[in-house]
Amino acid sequence: MIEVRGLTKRYGEVVAVDDLTFAVRPGEVTGFLGPNGAGKSTTLRMILGLDAATSGTATVSGLPYPDQPSPLKAVGALLDPSAVLPSRTAFHHLLALAAGNGIPRARVDEVLAEVGLEKVGRRRAGAYSLGMRQRLGIAAALLGDPPVLVFDEPLNGLDPEGIVWIRSLMRRMAAEGRAVLMSSHLMSEMELTADHLIVIGRGKLIADMPMKDFIAAH
Ligand code: ADP
Ligand code: ADP
Repeated sequence: MIEVRGLTKRYGEVVAVDDLTFAVRPGEVTGFLGPNGAGKSTTLRMILGLDAATSGTATVSGLPYPDQPSPLKAVGALLDPSAVLPSRTAFHHLLALAAGNGIPRARVDEVLAEVGLEKVGRRRAGAYSLGMRQRLGIAAALLGDPPVLVFDEPLNGLDPEGIVWIRSLMRRMAAEGRAVLMSSHLMSEMELTADHLIVIGRGKLIADMPMKDFIAAH
């Protein structure tokens, strides 16, 4: 579902992502683990076409993300939860995204309910807590009912209730047959969540194996 081949990103002398090759399969949560600065965000941003690769390719369901006829229906992404305009209501943020992607208006109320924001959807996002902004980001990711989800550090800064909620959502999305890629710098976040583990360090691939094999080997 996501295929990364020889993906490399240089910033001058710094090789942020160094010849990465891996696949993210449907029906699994794939954990993308590495310490801060390892190159996780840069990799995810290249998969989503937000950063240009120095070399190599990344495709989603066979096409580069920027070539997808309807991006939100191809990939749901959660990058920076604070990216939502504070003056906008959750409802209008989602409505604008839906309109731009040929998604029916009724789906907006559906995803607001799915993430538990139905009661506050008409309030401005500027008044939201981090956990609520995270839920709004997830609502945007689910809007197009995409077969692939890419979440960058989705558990960061959340309270225990939010962590349990996002974790069970990712499990459910994988059980429905979606490919779910989540990054984290914490092994403890992976153990309860991921079926498969990809580990990077200094931009290079260190491990790519089922979680149970990784645990047995370490
Ligand atoms: P992670 O997400 O694993 O914390 P990043 O992908 O953010 O890692 O960063 C990987 C490396 O690339 C780091 O050394 C970081 O300093 C560098 N880097 C990331 N973005 C830029 C940029 N825009 N310009 C220069 N260096 C960058
Ligand atoms: P712009 O209209 O400024 O070019 P976009 O339409 O790409 O920007 O994105 C606008 C908003 O939609 C941003 O908040 C972004 O985070 C969100 N967004 C874009 N693509 C996706 C996606 N695949 N999944 C989730 N949110 C997305």
